[in-house]
Amino acid sequence: MNPHIPHILFVNPWIHDFAAYDVWAKPYGLLSLAAITRCHGYQVSYIDCLDRFHPRAGKTDPYIRNGRGPFRKKTIQKPGGLSDINRTYSRYGIEPEWFREDLSAIPKPDLIMVTSLMTYWAPGVRETISAIKKIFPTVPVFLGGIYASLCYDHACKHSGADRVLSGSTEKTILDIFETYFGYRELSLYNPDDPDTYPYPAFDLQRVINYVPILSSRGCPFSCAYCASGYLNDAFTQRKPEFVVEEIKYFNTRHGVRDFAFYDDALLVNAKSHAIPMLEQLVNDDVNVRFHLPNALHIREINEEIASLMYLAGFQTIRLGLETVEFQEKRHQLDRKVSEKEFYDAVNVLLSAGFEKDQVGAYLLCGLPDQTTASVESSIRTVLKSGITPVLSHYTPIPHTALWPKAVLSSRYDLEADPIYTNNAILPCQKEPFSWEKVLYLKNIIKEGSDNNKPAIPEMVEAGCASEKLGSTHN
Ligand code: SF4
Repeated sequence: MNPHIPHILFVNPWIHDFAAYDVWAKPYGLLSLAAITRCHGYQVSYIDCLDRFHPRAGKTDPYIRNGRGPFRKKTIQKPGGLSDINRTYSRYGIEPEWFREDLSAIPKPDLIMVTSLMTYWAPGVRETISAIKKIFPTVPVFLGGIYASLCYDHACKHSGADRVLSGSTEKTILDIFETYFGYRELSLYNPDDPDTYPYPAFDLQRVINYVPILSSRGCPFSCAYCASGYLNDAFTQRKPEFVVEEIKYFNTRHGVRDFAFYDDALLVNAKSHAIPMLEQLVNDDVNVRFHLPNALHIREINEEIASLMYLAGFQTIRLGLETVEFQEKRHQLDRKVSEKEFYDAVNVLLSAGFEKDQVGAYLLCGLPDQTTASVESSIRTVLKSGITPVLSHYTPIPHTALWPKAVLSSRYDLEADPIYTNNAILPCQKEPFSWEKVLYLKNIIKEGSDNNKPAIPEMVEAGCASEKLGSTHN
């Protein structure tokens, strides 16, 4: 008789929010875990509640807008505490009925692993786990990811998961299986060396319309608003040649043209990391497009790097400017950049050949004590520099240095429920949410950007977007 091979189901949950859009947002960590699980001989299934290409959804071209696109959405009731917000709240992703059918169509799993991203998407995670439990009531559900790591106690109490996993599960997944299944497979990778990991299992998706790349994990800086330091044990970088191999693999094997770097600190140690990687991409004439939804460190950008990025095919560049207050106020938040460094970086990028609408500067909006005038001043400075301002609504994140101040500044009880940290509602402003104020700032950008291209929503978080797209996804 054949021994039973454990079957693990991996699930990317629904999003509940006021707005959500697929801006190169894939569950990198979950698919990395699926790849590790698969290469150790376990059976693997994957269901993506955010699947934009579900067979029951209308036909849509996966490759327009460099792979980005809207999620399907259905209006749902706002959580009680957010009834003061005059905006529509939705479930983003596939229909619940399709999810039930997809769950019922697979063999009963032995274990189900669900990921989580934004802390304030907790209600979507809860609904996903509840739907799973209706089909597989006796199968244990483990929850990992960013919400699980940042709000561990809340997730234990409210998610409905049987077990909550905090931190990077890529290193511990075989231990978890050993505890649960009672035996251990011989490890085929070194948990401390991401270059030995199998490539994330993007092939489990129906369509691979773009691929995220993680060439480093963590960040050597510690900005007051960012959780990168909490979510990653240390700053580590992969070998450039292995990263290039991975890009070539997805390009030649799966025809992928668009790649989004998820790094928090792509240009740190550029001489030994980004520069050789970019040089190899240019020399090998790898014909793909690169996008940087996470911000670059401005002071690391010089003529050589700008030129290599241009030649390698970078199409979307984001700079971590955050504010144009360059003196004391800024130093309470971060020490990322001076005024001169910002202007120098813009000049070398535009001189290298980038168009002004390819280069955006993230500007934080909704920080504790921040005035509308201060954000407006930052927007006008960026417009004057010749590139595009991109508003990045501040999300208060537990375990960051700014969290205590955020809690004191907010009109909500941030510690009571992560739904109150939703950056769409500017939770750290004392006065009630004003959609007019947000539109006022957006209009300044629109009028100053003098391009008529339809805006693509940018789902970004404080700083280098490290909660949304950062390196701890599992
Ligand atoms: S905001 Fe960016 S630079 Fe600052 S700690 Fe986070 S990832 Fe690093």
